[in-house]
Amino acid sequence: MNEMMKTSRHPFLDGKPKRMLIDGKWLEAASGKTFETHNPATGEVLARVAEGDSEDIDRAVAAARRAFTGPWSKFKPFERQALLLKLAELVERHFDELAMLDTLDMGAPISRTRGSRLRALGMLRYYAGQAVSMHGETIENSLPGEYMSFTLKEPVGVVGAIIPWNGPLTATIWKIGPALATGCTVVLKPAEEAPLTPLRLAELCQEAGVPPGVVNVVPGYGETAGAALAAHRDVDKVAFTGSHLTGQKIIQASAGNLKRVSLELGGKSPDVVFADADLDAAVPGAGMAVFANSGQICSAGTRLFVERKIYDEFAGRVAAYGKSLRVGDGADPETQVGPLVSAEQLDRVTGYLAIGRQEGARPLSGGERLTEGALAKGYFVPPTVFADVRDDMRIAQEEIFGPVISAIPFDDIEEVITRANATSFGLGSGLWTRDVTKAHKLARAIRAGSVWINCYQAMDPAVPFGGYKMSGYGRESGKQHVEEYLNVKSVWIRTA
Ligand code: NAD
Repeated sequence: MNEMMKTSRHPFLDGKPKRMLIDGKWLEAASGKTFETHNPATGEVLARVAEGDSEDIDRAVAAARRAFTGPWSKFKPFERQALLLKLAELVERHFDELAMLDTLDMGAPISRTRGSRLRALGMLRYYAGQAVSMHGETIENSLPGEYMSFTLKEPVGVVGAIIPWNGPLTATIWKIGPALATGCTVVLKPAEEAPLTPLRLAELCQEAGVPPGVVNVVPGYGETAGAALAAHRDVDKVAFTGSHLTGQKIIQASAGNLKRVSLELGGKSPDVVFADADLDAAVPGAGMAVFANSGQICSAGTRLFVERKIYDEFAGRVAAYGKSLRVGDGADPETQVGPLVSAEQLDRVTGYLAIGRQEGARPLSGGERLTEGALAKGYFVPPTVFADVRDDMRIAQEEIFGPVISAIPFDDIEEVITRANATSFGLGSGLWTRDVTKAHKLARAIRAGSVWINCYQAMDPAVPFGGYKMSGYGRESGKQHVEEYLNVKSVWIRTA
């Protein structure tokens, strides 16, 4: 058994309260307040953490502004690239420690958090490449006389980054990476459920040589620290990942200074299985499209549309697959499904399990919280497949954010396109077929930011990710991502 499994042995969990990083200094909250962060597998307190509020946000934004207009603005693209590469090197060196911190703080199986290595390092190295690849354009114009016109790409300024808890390491890199690449500065507000990895990553930013004030991390609650950051008049852009309800508040809060906003929100993604698919691949594929991270993934394929002639068999096989997965403490290398992140999340998910049954859906697997033995101390819900689900049921419409599949039969392709799109969200989508014509047709017809064909949840730093409709706007990853952190300035020169 890994030594770091024992919480007391994790090098970051030394019993001392965790402070916030502002202007290169590790500070207590101005109020002196702290909050606890827990291990959701055991209920154990992992650390006390400084609880930031509007005063701390003010200090952090002021530091970020000073850094933006000061020394950081002198950094050349190659220097920013070198910083990102150095950070990648440090993240690589400390990767197991960071992965275990994610696992302890939010519950994801260590096999999953360790499995994000390629993506986490890939992101930092991709942004390092972007740092030296940004450029404006020279544009021929048609004005009478002689004028030259060209564009400059300039960093948007101070970025307020607000992240959820479901993948703290990658979520933090997804915000800090493009900021460092473009020359922006950041005030990051981690989720109150899982603030530890962002704080550890901030230490590594310092070690990499990121100047004071360029990356600031202020832990705290959404309604206080988060709201203060979203409304702050000296923040130029908010990059938000979280629920659509909070996303709506972020937009309202942005109105004061009309700051730029990018939103990565929730989903109720369709996953469509045709009878001609390779079902042996589709069963675990459709299962893990939801059971991975205990369903706490924004693009989880929770509406499983199955062609009617294979519906009973396929739903039964996915349920059996779910039952075969090992549920337990994420720190155990054998665990495939960890706990939900918190007691609130447990209430939310078990609430939906009850609603599903009341609405007439039939659980083929799971359906109840697990309370046996050591699992009683944590927030465990087993992989659940509901059959007999209708499109109008709440479990087929609302984001549950738990390991819950709603299996729904369909008869033909036109019908399933309409029904797959009958949601206010549009983040992920999947389809399983051997028929290339069907695959192309659905790939175009589904209104979602990602379509996965004969796979699910494939992600790469170079491939854009983001939402349609109420799943948000803006893209992360890919070259579109750095554009979100840039302003375009047009310059005119009268040459004669
Ligand atoms: P949440 O919206 O409750 O919280 C997200 C973050 O916003 C947290 O840091 C929280 O403290 C902060 N926050 C809360 N209220 C705020 C306010 N009034 N002003 C400013 N900040 C505030 O979401 P959550 O429950 O932590 O995360 C789950 C949600 O995130 C799900 O809906 C999920 O689909 C979504 N998500 C989306 C993506 C994506 O890339 N699209 C990725 C992960 C999670």
